Amino acid sequence: MRLIAANWKMNKTPGETKDYIKKFLPLVSDLRDREILICPPFTSIPASAEFLKGTSIKLGAQNCYFEDSGAYTGEISIPMLLELGCEYVIVGHSERRHIFGEDDELINKKLIACIEKGIRPILCVGERLEDREAGMTEKVVETQLRIALSRLENHTDSIDIAYEPVWAIGTGVPATPEDAQKVHRFIREMLKSINSNFENKTRILYGGSVKPDNAGEFMKKEDIDGLLVGGASLDPESFARIVKSF
Ligand code: PEP
Repeated sequence: MRLIAANWKMNKTPGETKDYIKKFLPLVSDLRDREILICPPFTSIPASAEFLKGTSIKLGAQNCYFEDSGAYTGEISIPMLLELGCEYVIVGHSERRHIFGEDDELINKKLIACIEKGIRPILCVGERLEDREAGMTEKVVETQLRIALSRLENHTDSIDIAYEPVWAIGTGVPATPEDAQKVHRFIREMLKSINSNFENKTRILYGGSVKPDNAGEFMKKEDIDGLLVGGASLDPESFARIVKSF
């Protein structure tokens, strides 16, 4: 099933979350043929779980640590997320990589922990503008995927991937659907080649300046199985229009 995910980043208190969900639910209540996921900040996960109860909308987190517990000040573990009802977690978002210095090896440890503990990760990959201008997009994405998925080659069907070109995130300048499709095809071919049990269950999402008026064009592309939406998911009407754009 295609997956449309909201990444709220560091936005929305529990009170604001309640108001959002109250407005959002009636706008999407008739949709059964697509999966909708909301990833609030950690502190709004309990409020989200409460107000999404009894709906088909899924709950996810924006990050996790790979250890279960211990002296890791400020971190949140996968068992903590599972107990709150999270079924998904975003791993390796470009803001985690570029603002907080997460590298491919750390991302790999987080993914291994996600698979072991039974939460479905959404692994984010994507090139910077200078990589793109140097013609290195596929090379960069390939390296990110190979390291992130190392020792998980036969588990790729339990992982979703978001292709998010860094230059398109939060800039208002999306990739063209054609360029995104090419990278998505490349990613799918890579998954096929590294996973001998490949069942094609990985959804490959596009992310980067998705808006209500361009979402439908991305969703027409053969290898685009969904969307990861930042800024345009913060308004319930805008996110509902994206969810209903195809
Ligand atoms: C994101 O945060 O994953 C994202 C794609 O952001 P935006 O939609 O704002 O570009």
